[in-house]
Order: sequence, then C-alpha cells, then structure tokens
Amino acid sequence: MTLFEKIIARQIPADIVYEDADTIAFRDISPRAPVHVLVCPKKAIPKLSDSDDGDTETLGKLLRSVARVALAAGLTDYRVIINNGAGAGQSVFHLHLHLMGGRTLTWPPG
Ligand code: 5GP
Repeated sequence: MTLFEKIIARQIPADIVYEDADTIAFRDISPRAPVHVLVCPKKAIPKLSDSDDGDTETLGKLLRSVARVALAAGLTDYRVIINNGAGAGQSVFHLHLHLMGGRTLTWPPG
C-alpha cells in the first residue's frame, strides 16, 4: 500500500482540504509554495502513464477537484503539475496532481 493509499484509508494523518467519491486533496507535507495541495484519485493508479481509457472520467474529475480547491483557496493564478516517473521527480507512486499557488511561479519550472 502506498503512502497516499494510507492517507485515503485514514491510516496516517493528513490535512485534507477536499474529498469526494473519486478524489481527495490534502496539503503537501513539504510545501514548495504558500498553497501546495496534492489531488489524488482514490483509485490506485501508480502513474499517469499507467492510466487507460477506462480512467478518462477519473482524470477529468481530478482536474475539476483541482479547480474547486484553487477556488476555495482564493487562487486565480496557479500551476498544476504531474511528475510522471522517478526521472521526472515522482517519489510517491500513486497518481497525484500538485496544485501550487500563492506566489509568483517562474517558467520553466526546472
Ligand atoms: P512527487 O515527488 O511524487 O511528485 O510528490 C510527492 C509529494 O508528496 C512531495 O511533494 C512530498 O512533499 C509529499 N509527501 C511525501 N510524504 C508525505 C506525507 O506523508 N504527507 C503529505 N501530506 N505529503 C507527503
């Protein structure tokens, strides 16, 4: 079971800011921006590249959850990031979207 599955199962604590039937959002334990929230599917998809056509609705719901959390946080300008694979910085192998905002975000992210 991955760390994020344990958070979803309430086996380890997290600062959960949004939850619905298919998605959950909680604050990153090591925030890189004033608002840094991780939005995950409840279904255990390890990486975006592991998703398939059956996950299309879930993937859309993830983006809607990001937009909801951003709105609730008062963000108009923000960034949404998916790290896919260790070489791209992924360290927890349960698909998650990083919602980051509350400061100026430079481009490219590096
Ligand atoms: P990744 O590197 O896989 O894209 O992102 C994983 C994120 O999970 C990192 O930003 C890291 O700070 C966060 N993280 C790691 N362990 C925990 C934890 O126990 N609780 C929470 N809320 N976030 C965590």
